[in-house]
Amino acid sequence: MLVACDLHNHSCLSPCGSLEQSPAVLARLARERGLGLVALTDHNTALNAPAFAECARREGIVAMFGMEATSAEEVHVLCLFSALDVALDFGRFLAARLPRLPYDPAKLGDQVVVDADENVLDLPELYFGAALELGFDELCTAASGRGALVVPAHIDRPMFGAISQLGFLPEGPFAAVEAVRPVSPSASRGHTVITGSDAHYPEHVGRRPFGLELPEGWDAGGSVDLDALRDALEAGRVRPTFSP
Ligand SMILES: [Zn+2]
Ligand SMILES: [Zn+2]
Repeated sequence: MLVACDLHNHSCLSPCGSLEQSPAVLARLARERGLGLVALTDHNTALNAPAFAECARREGIVAMFGMEATSAEEVHVLCLFSALDVALDFGRFLAARLPRLPYDPAKLGDQVVVDADENVLDLPELYFGAALELGFDELCTAASGRGALVVPAHIDRPMFGAISQLGFLPEGPFAAVEAVRPVSPSASRGHTVITGSDAHYPEHVGRRPFGLELPEGWDAGGSVDLDALRDALEAGRVRPTFSP
């Protein structure tokens, strides 16, 4: 069956994300805009994932949990988990590798942890927008070793993509790569290319999903079968929505 997927979305916990973009708003708009599988990927943290899990359940969509991690070279990498607790654990691993920078919300943007009903739970003092003290290869290996689906983000963007930061896409344990516009097989190293909305604002939700042909039972028990997802991605059974 063809499932509309979007594996790159931010919430009000991302310093660059809109305060209106709560997990509840993301889940509601994702359902209204026809998405079936949606990941929350705030910068370097999964602390809004528990709220997103509850909101996705309420809306009847399948959630994935993870983060858009920033390597030391400032390459953005989507690290995606099916299980909430595993995502939270990887978030703690990353938090220990973030620099303790002075963080000024007035300049850098608010980071708000909320519950499923938009109550504020915490305003973390650690700045999640910073680069991790982990190189690209180390980051991808650590995520993959914990069972994440690893997807280098927007490899074709002029900033924060593998090609802009490293000059090329290195080899790595990638289930797919994300691009905004079509890229050549040499740029993607032959990996399947998916699209993602990279939604920071409600109006961005669902702007660049991809269709994925998944087997029946992919969402048994309300969570995604990671092996089925990986197989479908690696087999290239995708229909991306590139930007014009
Ligand atoms: Zn990014
Ligand atoms: Zn992003």
